[in-house]
Amino acid sequence: MSDKPKCTLCNYQQVSEKEPKLVIDANHHTDTIYSDCPNCGEFLISTSNWSLINEHKKKESIFSTLSGLARELTDTGSRLDLELTDLNDVLVNPLIPHSPTEKLNKMLLWFHRNTQFFG
Ligand SMILES: [Zn+2]
Repeated sequence: MSDKPKCTLCNYQQVSEKEPKLVIDANHHTDTIYSDCPNCGEFLISTSNWSLINEHKKKESIFSTLSGLARELTDTGSRLDLELTDLNDVLVNPLIPHSPTEKLNKMLLWFHRNTQFFG
């Protein structure tokens, strides 16, 4: 078992120096964790919100939803802030896709942002 930190949303763990770097900065004064994850991007999360999600019966689904939201916000120049924001307010963010069509549109937009020749 490695004692290297894992991303609080997607469980990414940098094992070797060749892999993308995970940055975690815990601020014990504000009880907040700042992360810059190769999968999720940048986000802030309070330990109380993290505990709230961890105790939720749909925690896996919520963690993956928040990971995707953090990635999209990072890619568009913003940042997911779960420091002081109520978790339920974040989970109704209009950027979160619900239908297959919405998910497909997200994928197409991702390709548009990340390729030079798409569309
Ligand atoms: Zn992550």
